[in-house]
Amino acid sequence: MRLENKVAIITGGASGIGEATARLFAQEGAKVVIADLADRGQEISHDLIQQGYESLFVKADVTNEEHTKNMIEQTVRQFGQLDIMFANAGIANEANIHEMSYEQWKKTMDINLSGVYLSDKYAIEQMRKQGTGGAIVNSGSIHSFVGKDGVTAYAAAKGGVKLLTQTLGITYSKEGIRVNAVCPGYIDTPLIADSPKEVKEHLVNLHPMGRLGRADEVAKAVLFLASEDASFIAGTTLLVDGGYTAQ
Ligand code: NAD
Repeated sequence: MRLENKVAIITGGASGIGEATARLFAQEGAKVVIADLADRGQEISHDLIQQGYESLFVKADVTNEEHTKNMIEQTVRQFGQLDIMFANAGIANEANIHEMSYEQWKKTMDINLSGVYLSDKYAIEQMRKQGTGGAIVNSGSIHSFVGKDGVTAYAAAKGGVKLLTQTLGITYSKEGIRVNAVCPGYIDTPLIADSPKEVKEHLVNLHPMGRLGRADEVAKAVLFLASEDASFIAGTTLLVDGGYTAQ
């Protein structure tokens, strides 16, 4: 088991990539805290406990500083420490700049970039206090690297996550806190479930593998970055994109 005795928080753990990662982390021995706005996180946490794993659900909005602090405090109160943060909560937003309101822009930047900043900030504070190192995995995207018609605010936020990750990776690797990012291609989760059929077909064709990715395929990459298998990896971005950005 690769995460035995580790305590992990997964933001956005109530769905898609976060849920798949929560389940995989538990199987690998971690005590898993699911932090999400959605109450489904409670059901997943209960399910994990029923399977004999240790888990906690914390209802939290990652854009709210008090919620973020509380999520760390509750984790430490229940499990005594924090070793891993997967800053994964995010939303989709497809709109070109001429049709996007400032409110839409701010919401996307707030959740997809500032939410990562807050999760990382308070995780790093706790990990430094413990002095035991730690691993942080941020949620980037192929759009941390390449743009696409209509992904304006989303790409701006995910590009920010990439450079935030690199900078934190440099600064805190000295203290044994490794900060990295996972950068998925299009993954078949509720995030893109509402896309029209023709849009989904188009997305499939953008991947050389000729399909969308699965949440469990991203979860395995997150597990790698969070585990000791990645002990000399800091400040990097791991693309899980079926070849999308290699073209
Ligand atoms: P999802 O919609 O299945 O899950 C996202 C979760 O985040 C949900 O449970 C939602 O309730 C939660 N969330 C949203 N706003 C929140 C907030 N303010 N506070 C707390 N929780 C909040 O999406 P997913 O596909 O699993 O995406 C997870 C991450 O992966 C996101 O950051 C997304 O941008 C990124 N990503 C997804 C894809 C994809 O194609 N699905 C591709 C690249 C990157």
